[in-house]
Amino acid sequence: MGEALAAHLAERAAKQPLSVAEFMEAANAAYYSARDPFGAQGDFITAPEISQMFGELIGLWIADLCLRAGSGPALYVEFGPGRGTLAADALRALAAARLAPDVHFVETSPVLRTAQAARVPDATWHADFSTLPRDRPLLVVANEFFDALPVRQFVRHGGGWHELMISWEDGRFVRRPGPAADLSLGPAREGAIREMSPVSGQITRDLAARIAKQGGAALVIDYGHAEPGLGDTLQAVARHGFVDPLEAPGTRDLTAHVDFSALRAAAKAGGAAVHGPILQGTFLEAMGIGARSAALAASAPARAEEIAAARERLVAPEAMGSLFKAMAITAPGWPVPAAFQ
Ligand code: SAH
Repeated sequence: MGEALAAHLAERAAKQPLSVAEFMEAANAAYYSARDPFGAQGDFITAPEISQMFGELIGLWIADLCLRAGSGPALYVEFGPGRGTLAADALRALAAARLAPDVHFVETSPVLRTAQAARVPDATWHADFSTLPRDRPLLVVANEFFDALPVRQFVRHGGGWHELMISWEDGRFVRRPGPAADLSLGPAREGAIREMSPVSGQITRDLAARIAKQGGAALVIDYGHAEPGLGDTLQAVARHGFVDPLEAPGTRDLTAHVDFSALRAAAKAGGAAVHGPILQGTFLEAMGIGARSAALAASAPARAEEIAAARERLVAPEAMGSLFKAMAITAPGWPVPAAFQ
């Protein structure tokens, strides 16, 4: 699969350079469609795979919001649910609050759909969110979803901005500035790089418009920056280490940091209210990870150390606590969500 894709992309890029977004989209579609990348044996690990506390506290966040909104039946929706672990943990916490929403997953990978069905058999799957039911509020969770969506890259060169394009030369992919772009990305020093993800902006705007119309909220958690910044954040991870993002497309996960200021603007343009971003550590502490880890450790003393280590990994600033951010989108008139007051 990976080799066939690499050969196909090489042929395309030899004829006509590809944008970074085109390359990333093709590489990630092939990567996710063919494998379950998570866990110690895989390429990387995500917060819900580190501890059940992560999904449980998100379930609690949703339950609190629904009860205060007095919304009646709503849908639990997850974008890119991975192995379905976060959903299973969140739904258990929702059930404890006597909430049993119908579950809808937006997922393109057939391999991961199978994994999700093992954890959440009653879910309904969608290729994109346009087919979600329109008759009830949406409670949307997207953890490490937006970082996998394609970004375009532009480099400051000779007083203008040029899109970085990928071509195939001498048996490898290389990134070079293309013709001047018709865009005003502001001044910057020679060689500075700016990224933008038109797909992320469009999904966020359309989702916010659906939420504004139907009611509900979305919780977006991902690594990225709260303010627009400069820099090349395209990265590839395989076997828990960084590797060359242009090598062997389709065999490694390609990501870019999420620009939360762009998502904020898109959500507002869609007519919804936006809260945050705040640090993941701040979010989890506010939701009570201290009390939850103490309760788990008390019921399983043999696992106390492991539970404390997982908590530390999720909240400590030098681990995931500050690189990862949480941002909420709510329908106008809905209460301000917990942790964002
Ligand atoms: N949320 C999970 C998985 C994160 S990995 C966790 O935290 O563990 C990214 C997920 O998004 C995978 O499930 C992948 O298959 C899915 N995905 C990537 N691009 C997508 C797209 N364009 N549409 C729908 N799902 C996508």
